[in-house]
Amino acid sequence: MQIVFLGPPGVGKGTQAKGVAAEQGVPHISSGDMLREAVSERTPTGLKGKTYMDSGKLVPDDVMIDLIADRIARPDCARGFVLDGFPRTLAQAEALASMLQAKGRPVSVVLYFDADEATIVERLSGRRLCRSCGAGYHVKFMPPKNGTTCDKCGGELYQRADDKAATIKERLQVYQKQTAALIQYYRDRGLLKQIPGGASVEQVGQKVREALGGVGARKV
Ligand code: AMP
Repeated sequence: MQIVFLGPPGVGKGTQAKGVAAEQGVPHISSGDMLREAVSERTPTGLKGKTYMDSGKLVPDDVMIDLIADRIARPDCARGFVLDGFPRTLAQAEALASMLQAKGRPVSVVLYFDADEATIVERLSGRRLCRSCGAGYHVKFMPPKNGTTCDKCGGELYQRADDKAATIKERLQVYQKQTAALIQYYRDRGLLKQIPGGASVEQVGQKVREALGGVGARKV
């Protein structure tokens, strides 16, 4: 299946997307993770993307479309994939549709996660990541045992530059202005399934499984 995860930043898409990809045995493609890797490796894409990312703005469509087109052309995507964070604009959605049409494997379903703004801001501002293994924590909901180091590998925990209050506000505005239109776009195409993202990881996971059950989760 070709599954798209849609929703505002901080709604919990990433956590669920990883779980679904593991269950289905297909790659989890997070555009944000790919960009952060490109930034840390100082590739041309990373150098182009960094300023936009740090300020909470979207990286230009042409950069993103090339990045994702290359990724889904790899052999590990032949049986499907989970896209997390892409598309984020109508131009990206149209580009994705034509890439997949060319492969004869259109988008199977779009899971749209929603939560109220206060929940999103609380989730984003408390989020911490391990610099070594990438594990995610939350100062309130999933605190690391030792306070400042990773439970899994002992690595240093840090806060993403774009998870600071001013940038969170900008990211939410950008989502409303540029990404929210995709809800109607995919609804019009009969692909949208709405998932309430405000509950616990387990409860949201259950809803995700129910939603995917209806689109033939086994037919990857
Ligand atoms: P995320 O980890 O998904 O919150 O993405 C972090 C940042 O990467 C975003 O705030 C954007 O600057 C950039 N980004 C990720 N995915 C996209 C995309 N599909 N289009 C444009 N920018 C993106």
